[in-house]
Amino acid sequence: VYEGIVKSLVKKEEKEEGGKVVVAGAPLVTGTEIKVNVSMPEVAERAAATGADGVGLLRAEHMILGIGAHPMKFLKEGKEEELIERLVEGIRTVVTAFYPRRVWYRTLDAPTNEFRELPGGEDEPVERNPMLGWRGIRRGIDQPELLRAEFKAIKRLVDEGFDNIGVMLPLVSHPEQVRRAKEIALEVGLVPHKDVEWGVMIETPASALIIEELIKEGLDFVSFGTNDLTQYTLAIDRDNERVFKLYDEKHPAVLKLIKHVIKVCKKYGVETSICGQAGSDPKMAKKLVRLGIDSLSANPDAVELIRKVVAQEERKLMLEHARKSIFKDEEDLF
Ligand code: PEP
Ligand code: MG
Repeated sequence: VYEGIVKSLVKKEEKEEGGKVVVAGAPLVTGTEIKVNVSMPEVAERAAATGADGVGLLRAEHMILGIGAHPMKFLKEGKEEELIERLVEGIRTVVTAFYPRRVWYRTLDAPTNEFRELPGGEDEPVERNPMLGWRGIRRGIDQPELLRAEFKAIKRLVDEGFDNIGVMLPLVSHPEQVRRAKEIALEVGLVPHKDVEWGVMIETPASALIIEELIKEGLDFVSFGTNDLTQYTLAIDRDNERVFKLYDEKHPAVLKLIKHVIKVCKKYGVETSICGQAGSDPKMAKKLVRLGIDSLSANPDAVELIRKVVAQEERKLMLEHARKSIFKDEEDLF
């Protein structure tokens, strides 16, 4: 954190480009990067104007489910090209608006109940608890056609020259899923770590507890999906109103998992971030700064506040460190 703050003091400045003032970062300087979550390409320009340092979560759901048909049916009808084109256009809008700031694209993560609502979704399995069901990377690996289309779209953008894209896998719980997803990417010519940054979401207690094994599969970054990490750690269905009062992202068990992951990631030089709702919560942001997280990704309307809170907390932290070292020297003196 310390080094980051010092670097950022010299890194961020306003530049004039084609008569337009471009703010690289925001007026307030933070060593911890403050990014933004983008749920659909239509809001990319506005999200970029917040001065966020990048996109910590670009959601695929709106782009893919927005085709107005069940995407698997769509692919079976031979319309892969149409789906890829839609993705290319959507992702291009975002990576262009933010360039050269980095954009982490999260592969499709829709539960079966959302798939079923789409035209052609009648055959979608009915699950008792879709939150524990066929979603995220589990489904991506079982039905690689969709994942392949997503990777092909990203590969096209890489070929267009975009070097600011990252791929993030949702709901990972086993190293084998990282390995398999990488194979699928390579099958379509997308090379993780070279063409794109490669990361996973930490959304299950399993992924937090086996972080070292996940890192050994090769990761550039991880991002805490605290919405899911909280529901699975505390066994509270996000969609169940009866138990929602017990839902707490700052529960010591959740924080303990986060702390463990950051510690291990630091050891291996893997970048850490957060893109769950907790990243937009000032109290949580302060805790995460103290835990040494590299970036926080907030909702567009929270970016400014989170940057202020983080800047204050970083200064406090530096002062605490400085005072500690001063008193240590005085002890040495007297
Ligand atoms: C999360 O789980 O925190 C997250 C960002 O993903 P989603 O809310 O889409 O499940
Ligand atoms: Mg999630």
